[in-house]
Amino acid sequence: MTYDPNNIFAKILKGEIPCHKIFEDEHTLAFMDVMPQVDGHCLVIPKNGSRGLLDAEPAVVAHTMETVQKVAAATVKTFMADGFQIRQYNESAAGQTVFHLHFHILPMFEGQSLRPHTGKMADHAVLAAHAARIRDALE
Ligand code: AMP
Repeated sequence: MTYDPNNIFAKILKGEIPCHKIFEDEHTLAFMDVMPQVDGHCLVIPKNGSRGLLDAEPAVVAHTMETVQKVAAATVKTFMADGFQIRQYNESAAGQTVFHLHFHILPMFEGQSLRPHTGKMADHAVLAAHAARIRDALE
């Protein structure tokens, strides 16, 4: 299985399609998931293209995890979450639908279950507002 440089996240990185950006640095980009399983569901991707965790350079994974930690902290703070999950799927059999390495950040609340994976598209105004609030909470 090879990396397709025209996948949807590669297009976001190239600026060909928009996203609700939370954070960007030399190595990574964080943005809102358009079909959030919970309010505040966001994604962190490396700028370097790989399909999943196993074909990524370890240094790329390390940079990406730094951003995951930073954005998870801001997301939990913003939504006053009781906890959070990090999810990362590899290949269709595992539920992966976009074949560019990405980490899901999912704020979790006591007694609240998640909406389905790749469910309903959220209102863009709401996603923009959530991205702005998470950006404000970044340390
Ligand atoms: P996965 O199944 O782990 O590959 O998840 C891909 C995620 O990307 C899903 O949660 C989708 O809702 C999300 N997604 C798909 N297209 C976009 C997009 N254009 N912008 C933001 N998130 C997206």
